[in-house]
Amino acid sequence: MNEKTYAHSLICDDCKKDFPLDGHFTLCPCCGGLLEVQYQLNAMKKDLSRLFQDSRDRSIWRYRDFFPFVEEKNIVSLGEGGTPLIQSNHIGKEFGVPELYFKNDTMMPTGSFKDRGFSLAISYARQIGVKNAFTYSSGNAGASFAAYSARSGFPALVCVEYIASDTKKEMIQLYGANTAILYYDSFEEIAQMLKSAAQELKIYQFVNFINPIRHEAMKTYAYEIFESMSKAPDIMIHPVGTGGGLYGAYKGFKELAELGFIDSIPRFFAVQPLDCSHYKQAFDKGEKEAGRYGETDKTIAQSIASDAPLHKGRRVLDAIYDSNGAALAVTDEEILEAMRELAREGIAAEPSAAASLAGFKNGVNRGLIKSGDTVVCVITGGALKQPAAVKMAAKLSEHKLKANITELKRILDLQVSKQ
Ligand SMILES: *Cc1c(COP(=O)(O)O)cnc(C)c1O
Ligand SMILES: [Zn+2]
Repeated sequence: MNEKTYAHSLICDDCKKDFPLDGHFTLCPCCGGLLEVQYQLNAMKKDLSRLFQDSRDRSIWRYRDFFPFVEEKNIVSLGEGGTPLIQSNHIGKEFGVPELYFKNDTMMPTGSFKDRGFSLAISYARQIGVKNAFTYSSGNAGASFAAYSARSGFPALVCVEYIASDTKKEMIQLYGANTAILYYDSFEEIAQMLKSAAQELKIYQFVNFINPIRHEAMKTYAYEIFESMSKAPDIMIHPVGTGGGLYGAYKGFKELAELGFIDSIPRFFAVQPLDCSHYKQAFDKGEKEAGRYGETDKTIAQSIASDAPLHKGRRVLDAIYDSNGAALAVTDEEILEAMRELAREGIAAEPSAAASLAGFKNGVNRGLIKSGDTVVCVITGGALKQPAAVKMAAKLSEHKLKANITELKRILDLQVSKQ
């Protein structure tokens, strides 16, 4: 089956052994390392004209040549992908960086960029015949996993973090998934549980990186942005939880560079909440691995709150160093401000998604981003699943009026005098 796309095997990050693509394991069966899908780039080079041909399909499946093979009948799609890349009208100019763009993934079937990964990962699990599986989630992944599982009749157990908003937990229930609320003191406990589940229970998982397929779909950012701009941006700014999004986009741009579509890859900036910014701690010291740092329940950016990275964060740090990027940290106040500023651009983002814009401002202020740079902030999820944060970012109107024309005129005049 593998000859149907260019994906040919899995390789372990640690012991470098190769494995067939269709195994029901997620971590390396020999050493427990992370597995990475490998492609025949030389064969792809010969078929370049086929790779970005026009297609009426705007979803991620348009790029299926860049995925492990899935038969048509196993594909579960809700039209994920193909989201708009829109230029900033206000903030870019105000910060002297006019080429600032937003990749608006709030416009996804379940309201977050997780849909890219789950459409592919669940389709693929169906392809290789997985019958029982679970995922761990900070909220959005659970909703996405639940939606795609429900649509395809795939069994879904979602272990969702207790800090997730009630709305996120309720949405997971709405899609009908089997849900359990997950309590923990440190993310290290979760990581250990996931590792044991892979090695002892041998149960298939959908957690980023433990599942080797999900981040393959995040490469589609790179392709979509490349197709919109006809070039690679200078800088990509990602809010980072596990780092599956950032790492996938990095892999996508690496492929485009190796295939000769672009000359060089963008610099990758990771953004975390200051309260739990292990990547920034490691990056500032020039370290290749990140450890435990901070607390996850102190920040409103729940979707990117992690106090310890999976597998020591090597993949994310590698992507940052290799691309000459940076790890940044932002406060909740900066995130709330960024939510209001994004809204002024017409985008309502949840705090974790707005963190990328807060990171942009941080990067400009620190001189890491220059006025001539083309910058893409990935806006990873919409505001509505975290209503308490919307309340924090925006006060209710103080204007009250009785339904009569005199009062309406008074308020309209106020609006004119403000302009
Ligand atoms: C999951 C999530 C992130 C972080 O994505 P990773 O791939 O885990 O780094 C960022 N923003 C939102 C809205 C998310 O749901
Ligand atoms: Zn291994």
